[in-house]
Amino acid sequence: MDMLENYKNYLNFLDGKLEKFFTSQKPYIFCKKGCAKCCKNAQFPYSLLEIKYLLLGFLKLDASVQEKVENNLQKVVEKKKKYRGKKFKYDCPFLIDDVCCVYDYRGIVCRTFGLMTNTEEKGLMAPFCYELGLNYSNVLNLRKKTVSTRKFKKLNVKEEPLAFNVGYKYLTNPEYENTFNIKFTDKKPLIDWFLDENK
Ligand code: SF4
Ligand code: SF4
Repeated sequence: MDMLENYKNYLNFLDGKLEKFFTSQKPYIFCKKGCAKCCKNAQFPYSLLEIKYLLLGFLKLDASVQEKVENNLQKVVEKKKKYRGKKFKYDCPFLIDDVCCVYDYRGIVCRTFGLMTNTEEKGLMAPFCYELGLNYSNVLNLRKKTVSTRKFKKLNVKEEPLAFNVGYKYLTNPEYENTFNIKFTDKKPLIDWFLDENK
């Protein structure tokens, strides 16, 4: 079976897992189509395998949408070439009118946006958008960045606010590679895959 077919199996597994997590956190999740703040001003780590899959999605788009993505890509690539700082951040070129145009083909990190995470590298972390009055903002103490018992009681919901081990490093670890017979290979910010081609 080809690697992209195996990767689809992995994505089915991952989506199943994430769906359970998101459902369990429903009272704290404010994601909706057109929000897309998490698709802006970031780096978006992508492996070679994910980029190949993303491009499959790109090839299925109408020519007019492909053109918009290409224009976006070109603009971001040009900015990146001139950038001299350490951490170049940008709006994802696949975001068109605040909607992901390759949604079913989006990367792993895109699928986890919005959950509270607990990872080996970073510990407990709320999604950045809680500060914007979005996910978990109704239960976190904004100053201390911890769960507020007062807010939780006031909400009167059964589901506890939980954090999940859905960090990018963990979700792309060798154990998953072996189980699903896939290789993520190199990982770098999404835009860098296109930068190399434009050198
Ligand atoms: S994760 Fe946050 S920023 Fe992204 S769609 Fe959900 S609410 Fe909006
Ligand atoms: S691929 Fe789609 S979901 Fe991921 S950052 Fe880009 S626009 Fe957002």
